[in-house]
Amino acid sequence: MRIFLLCLVFWGCIACQSEHLQNKSFNIVTTTSFLADGIRLLVDSTIQVKSLMGPGIDPHLFKPGPAELAQLRSADLVIANGLHLEGRMEEVLRSFQREKPVLLIGDISPRQLILYGQAKTPDPHIWMDPLLWADAFYCLPDTLARLTGLSDSLVWRNYRQLKDSLTSLHKWTQSQLETVPVQSRWLVTAHDAFGYFGRAYHWQVKGLQGISTAGDIGLQEVNELINLLVSHQIQALFTESAVSARNLEAVRAGAESQGWKVAWGKSLYTDAPGNYNTPEGSYFGMFRYNVMAISQALNTKATNP
Ligand SMILES: [Zn+2]
Repeated sequence: MRIFLLCLVFWGCIACQSEHLQNKSFNIVTTTSFLADGIRLLVDSTIQVKSLMGPGIDPHLFKPGPAELAQLRSADLVIANGLHLEGRMEEVLRSFQREKPVLLIGDISPRQLILYGQAKTPDPHIWMDPLLWADAFYCLPDTLARLTGLSDSLVWRNYRQLKDSLTSLHKWTQSQLETVPVQSRWLVTAHDAFGYFGRAYHWQVKGLQGISTAGDIGLQEVNELINLLVSHQIQALFTESAVSARNLEAVRAGAESQGWKVAWGKSLYTDAPGNYNTPEGSYFGMFRYNVMAISQALNTKATNP
């Protein structure tokens, strides 16, 4: 069941929307490339949209350097994920909020749909459920039209197309994942990036690390995951492109020492896209790649004794 969405968009700088110069191309800077992919579909080619982070960059650990700070300074509008995804640049975002619009899309997403981890930390990986991603973008068209000068009707038409594409992606994902036997629907990864994905598709998900890669991993977490793999006879483990695989390798070796051999699935793109010149370099390509990699790795008969 989807819920009624109410948009309350705050950006901290009340006078900012009238400061844009007419003859300069409006410049939107996003933190993640998944945000940039969505924003480009809402606006038109007169608007510049660039992301600070690209392939292989872990947003939980990312700190803007001089080049990224210059990008933020030159932006007319900054759009971040929020929900503490950009944990190490929150202070920077707050300081820019005093001089220009800085929207945190997670903070204007429907709160009822946000998941929480340990210590009530919000799960920031909202792009992992295409329908929730569409809901998160719902609050942007009016604000984008007002700030950029684009017509409301254009931005809302683009939003409806984006929502249709995300709904199609969701339906395709459902059909792909249903090919995996119910008892094999376990998604074990390097960190907890798949909470929303698991909720949307009724899969069990477990990350070695929590919802941020900034936390520590102890022997207890490693042993718990080994026990999970062995007790549920989980077929495959997945590394992630922007997260170290070292600790997951220890988990796999630990399970093998207990007589349960786990295969490696293809490395997944969770918090960062693939290379820009590949299909996985965009949000939709990344999502489809992950779904295919997951269903292929787990859609096999058990080969263990
Ligand atoms: Zn993450």
